[in-house]
Amino acid sequence: MESKDKMDLSYILNELGEERANYFGGVTPPLMQSVNFCFQDVERLRNAIANEMDTPFYTRGHNPTVAILRKKLAALENAEECLVFSSGSGAIAAGIMSCVQSGDHVVSVQNPYSWTYKLLSNLLSRYGVSVTYVEGTVAANYAAAIRPETKLFLLESPNSMTFQLQDIAAVCSIARQHNITTMIDNSYSTPLNQQPIAMGVDIIVHSGTKYLNGHSDVVMGVLCSTRSRCEQIFKSEYMTLGGAVSPHDAWLMLRGLRTLPLRMERVGTTARTLVDFLASHPRIEKIFYPFYPSSPQYRLALQQMKAAAGQFSVLLKADTIEEVERFCNHLKRFLIATSWGGYESLIYPVCASYGSVNPTQTTLPWNFIRFYIGLEDPEVLMNDLSDAFVAMEKG
Ligand SMILES: *Cc1c(COP(=O)(O)O)cnc(C)c1O
Repeated sequence: MESKDKMDLSYILNELGEERANYFGGVTPPLMQSVNFCFQDVERLRNAIANEMDTPFYTRGHNPTVAILRKKLAALENAEECLVFSSGSGAIAAGIMSCVQSGDHVVSVQNPYSWTYKLLSNLLSRYGVSVTYVEGTVAANYAAAIRPETKLFLLESPNSMTFQLQDIAAVCSIARQHNITTMIDNSYSTPLNQQPIAMGVDIIVHSGTKYLNGHSDVVMGVLCSTRSRCEQIFKSEYMTLGGAVSPHDAWLMLRGLRTLPLRMERVGTTARTLVDFLASHPRIEKIFYPFYPSSPQYRLALQQMKAAAGQFSVLLKADTIEEVERFCNHLKRFLIATSWGGYESLIYPVCASYGSVNPTQTTLPWNFIRFYIGLEDPEVLMNDLSDAFVAMEKG
């Protein structure tokens, strides 16, 4: 075990888990693309079976390349242990399912990530688990929703699309008084900008697909918690549902992780520049961004987050969907796509959920657009936006 004082950020990203002497001094770890691992004798096989979580035996359970990643991610979250999944949704499902059984109740922040909502409302409801969604900006709403059978508080701070915060320490303290487990989706902030364990959270999950990998080429999920809770999840949800990550994806993620601090700083700074630029624009009705002095949650943001990330949303001032579409279609440097956290700037216009034959359910208005700011030059992005605003006027 490496001593605590060596665990600065560069140490975690560059050194922790790397055993270079074992692979010819390779600076980069090898991609161990092997399903199974063989043993010199039965006794060694027996020991491996007894410790599947920590020993190369079968790659759904343990893989040496994935193991390096697990060490780094656990250290980044200041957690004892980490499990890596084939998607963020897989990690979220395993985390929630590890806390509930038939008859139990979950209190969740309202408007969590869409597939988290579907897991709770559509899938777990079939197994007798009920859910109450609360307006999470008021911590007391969590307390008010507690029932005798409540087992889990689910947080996503900031939450998807509108970036509302929950007072993490306050919600965790309510949970502790009632013996309720807490789980947070920390994808927006990454461990660099928000440290949920220090605020009392029991389980942290991430869509590693977003910032942690950072290159829009891997779908991956992360779950961090205590060693004992991770052991339980490993033996049950992790191994039986089988959402293990491929060694190749873990290897790519190790590469992506090396530049996480640089990327987070860059997208955070550029996003703030663009928010300032848009705030005074006559075509912008409202901006959803937690780190603005005028935001009602600015103080809470400063209290529990180190910085904002690269996402924000806006309401465009427009009379018709066509005007919104003209704005979106005219953008050349922002790609029209879902997801975020990669190198490329994106817009996700909610009007795409309107007017189709099979409209997706959304509570957001048609002039709502989510932005993700990538690694481009801010000037380039501002010019692109200016051109698109002009294009809106021309019917
Ligand atoms: C994308 C996302 C997820 C789901 O992650 P996948 O890796 O796509 O399964 C979960 N939570 C949040 C906040 C997300 O943005």
